[in-house]
Amino acid sequence: MSGLSVRNLWKAYPSAESKDDVLVALEDVSLEVREGEFVCVLGPSGCGKSTLLRIAAGLEKPSLGTVETPSRPSVVFQEHGVFPWLTVAENIAYPLRLRRVPRAQRAARVAELLDLVGLTEFASYYPAQISGGMRQRTSVARALADDGSVLLMDEPFGALDEQTRVVLQQELLRIWEQTSKAVLFITHSVDEALTLADRVVVMSHRPGRIIAEVEIPFGRPRD
Ligand code: ADP
Ligand code: ADP
Repeated sequence: MSGLSVRNLWKAYPSAESKDDVLVALEDVSLEVREGEFVCVLGPSGCGKSTLLRIAAGLEKPSLGTVETPSRPSVVFQEHGVFPWLTVAENIAYPLRLRRVPRAQRAARVAELLDLVGLTEFASYYPAQISGGMRQRTSVARALADDGSVLLMDEPFGALDEQTRVVLQQELLRIWEQTSKAVLFITHSVDEALTLADRVVVMSHRPGRIIAEVEIPFGRPRD
């Protein structure tokens, strides 16, 4: 399995309303994202998208079900994903340091990634000194540095203004097309899902379950 495989996930939380009750956030959710495939999970707020992503990322345990990935997925969140005490370049270098990539190789890879996301001139800036769009570019570059074959994204452009969002969507597609990563991208925007995805998985809530899966055969031009 080189992509992501999620099988029969259930997740229950203690209910906020009654001590004797549970809130079923996910009901029997199964999906696969193959290598090189871009899948969007689309659904209204509260339907369990983030719960699904956190479980797929290994950040939370399901009540039932399994997640299979060849390596730990990289994750890009909506906000607060970059370390404020590190510069743009240091943020991107972080996963390389963790993997003990030698200094010269690390520097070369960071330069490459900075160039890929258009932040070369901002390498030594701190997150507080750059725009929200640049912070998300940093976050994407850091996830790419992680080298995993599965990329999970939880509304990564949700906090950005419309214009920046459209630019970053196109950038992400351009970058992703150069990789063979399996991407699971969460959004509540139909527009965003149709712009990005090869396949859209639609969820409904209470309980959070998959109600439809749609292949997008038209969409963006591909080689
Ligand atoms: P979405 O990402 O689609 O907005 P979430 O996965 O955040 O949905 O939430 C799904 C449901 O689970 C919501 O009803 C939410 O309130 C509930 N939920 C999520 N996380 C927790 C938690 N840690 N404890 C209790 N309930 C939670
Ligand atoms: P989203 O942006 O995905 O809709 P929220 O902003 O509602 O998520 O939730 C943010 C965080 O709060 C998540 O980590 C989620 O697990 C947690 N959370 C959401 N609902 C609850 C809840 N009812 N009780 C406890 N934690 C919750």
